[in-house]
Amino acid sequence: MNYKFEQPVVGEIGVQKYKITIQWRNGQFIADEPEKSGGGDLGPDPFTLLLSSLASCTLATLRMYIDKKGWDIPEIKVNVNMFQQTKNEKLLTTIDRDIHFGNDIPNEQKERLLEIAGNCPVSRLLQADVAIRTYVYHNEEVDKKLNYSNSEVTVEWRPDLCKHSGRCVHGLPGVFDVNKRPWINIEGATTEDIISQVNKCPTGALKHHKK
Ligand code: SF4
Repeated sequence: MNYKFEQPVVGEIGVQKYKITIQWRNGQFIADEPEKSGGGDLGPDPFTLLLSSLASCTLATLRMYIDKKGWDIPEIKVNVNMFQQTKNEKLLTTIDRDIHFGNDIPNEQKERLLEIAGNCPVSRLLQADVAIRTYVYHNEEVDKKLNYSNSEVTVEWRPDLCKHSGRCVHGLPGVFDVNKRPWINIEGATTEDIISQVNKCPTGALKHHKK
């Protein structure tokens, strides 16, 4: 499993309500909450960012397809909005997306572009199953090393380097299990298997020292 981005998107907040700095690969921008929610409206709120993601993905995907086809459609605009309802105790979110083309285009092109928009990567993501895995750290954990030993080997784990690829958990579930404490059971497999799995950690969060 590889992450989509080499570096994660990083968000930070201090005590100013609710100014958030988001760092992305080529710079940073401010996100905030609207004034009615107690923020300063200094930047887009989280739902606006979500809808912007869909709008920009739709537009980029359409532009790529139109250019590939050589169709004469110089301008495209997308309006996106959403509403939420609770049905049978489940939150149901509906996103409406209107696509406007700046010039008149044949119906068959419109239909094809509707299909293309429906398949843009963010559309697919929003309509698929999404898992959010959350881990908690505090600054003292940076550079912290946790050791797990049996009579032959010590496995060292650096939480700050662990990118939760899950490779160890899937590779050797008898040893690496995030639902258990401690999460590494050093007696759960042979030393040879543990060393082999530790060597597959993609980030260097896991290391071993043979005794
Ligand atoms: S320890 Fe390594 S392999 Fe295991 S989850 Fe963290 S980064 Fe992935």
